[in-house]
Amino acid sequence: VKSKLPQTTTTIFTQMSQLAVEHEAINLSQGFPNFPVDQRLKDLINHYVQADYNQYAPMVGVGELRQAIAKKKWELYASRLDAETEITITNGATEAIFSAITALVRAGDEVIVFEPAYDSYVPAIEVNGGVVVPLQLRSPDYRVDWDEVRDKISPRTRMIIINTPHNPTGTVFDKTDLKALQSITDDTDILILSDEVYQHLIFDGRQHESVLRYPDLYCRSIVTMSFGKTFHATGWRIGYCIAPPEITAEIRKVHQFNTFSINRPLQHALADYLAEPEHYRLLPDFYQRKRDVFREAMQDTPFELLECSGTYFALAAYRQLSDLGDQAFARWLTREKGVATIPISSFYSDGTDEHIVRFCFAKTEESLLAAAERLKR
Ligand code: GLN
Repeated sequence: VKSKLPQTTTTIFTQMSQLAVEHEAINLSQGFPNFPVDQRLKDLINHYVQADYNQYAPMVGVGELRQAIAKKKWELYASRLDAETEITITNGATEAIFSAITALVRAGDEVIVFEPAYDSYVPAIEVNGGVVVPLQLRSPDYRVDWDEVRDKISPRTRMIIINTPHNPTGTVFDKTDLKALQSITDDTDILILSDEVYQHLIFDGRQHESVLRYPDLYCRSIVTMSFGKTFHATGWRIGYCIAPPEITAEIRKVHQFNTFSINRPLQHALADYLAEPEHYRLLPDFYQRKRDVFREAMQDTPFELLECSGTYFALAAYRQLSDLGDQAFARWLTREKGVATIPISSFYSDGTDEHIVRFCFAKTEESLLAAAERLKR
C-alpha cells in the first residue's frame, strides 16, 4: 500500500521493550513503573466492577470524575473549569493528543514541535496532512530560545506543542517560558497543545507551571494529562484533555468516533481516589528519591548523567564508554550489559544524535541498583 506515514516505524518503546525481554535485560527503556498500584485504588476498581458499573461510560467521561478533576485543578492551579464543557476523559494522553491534533490541524497547517519530542506528535500531525516545523533543542540544558520560536512562526502556524516536565530531557518550563509563549501568541489564533502528563513528577521544590495557571494562554490551549503516569498504572490507558468549550467541542467530535468512551469502572474508582489528595501530593518526593538513588548509583559507571528536574527519565551521555551511534549503542547495551535504554535520536525528526540515551527510573530501588551494578562492569 502507499503509506500515509512513510517515515514512521514501530515506536522505539516497543522495539526496546521487546529487545529487553529477548535478552532478559533490566528494562529502563519504555517509561513504566515496575512496582504495584496502590491497594486502595485496586479495591475501588474491584468495587465498581462488582457493583456492575460495566456498561458504556458517557462519551465525554463519567461526570463524577470530571467534577473531581475540576476540583483538583482549582486547588492546584487556581483554574476554574467547567467539567461539562472543558474536560474530556480519553484513552490515555496519547488519544487526547491524537484526537486534538486530528480535530484541529488542517492539511497544510504548520505545527511547531520542540525536539527531542515525544514520538507520537509528529506522526499525528503528518497523518492529518499537517506540516511539522521542528525546533531543535540541544544538550545539556535543552532550553527553548523564544526568539527562535518567534522566527519560526508563519501565517500558516496553527499550533505549538509544548511538554513540561519534558520527556525525554527532564527539563521544566519556568514562569519566563510561559510568559514568553504568551507574548508570542497574543493577538494570533495559534493554538497551544500542552502535554503535561508529568505534572506531579517535579523535583527540588519546583512548581509545575501548568498552562492552566495562565488564563490568557489557556484560552488558546489544549492540556493533556495522564492517570497512568500519576498513579503508576500505564496499562490502564486513561487520561484526559482540558480545553476551553469551543475547542473541546471540536475534540469531542473526533474522540467519539475514535474510542467513543473510556473504561467505566476505572473512571468511578479514580473519581473516589482523586478525592484523597495525599495520593498525588506524595509523588514529587517519591520520585525525587528514586532519581537520587539512581544518580548516586550511576556515579561509579562511565555514564555522565544530565540534570533532571522532572519526569521519571534521566538522560546520560556515554562518550567515555563508546563511539557507537545511540541506536546501535542502546541495542549493544541491552544485549551485552543487560540494561535497556532509549536512544534520544528517535525523538529528532532529522535523527540528531548527541550520543545520549534515556534511562527510566520509575523502578524499585532494587532494580535501579541492580542496573547500575551491571553498568559498572
Ligand atoms: N511515555 C512512555 C515513554 O516515554 C512510553 C509510552 C509508549 O510506549 N507508548 O517511555
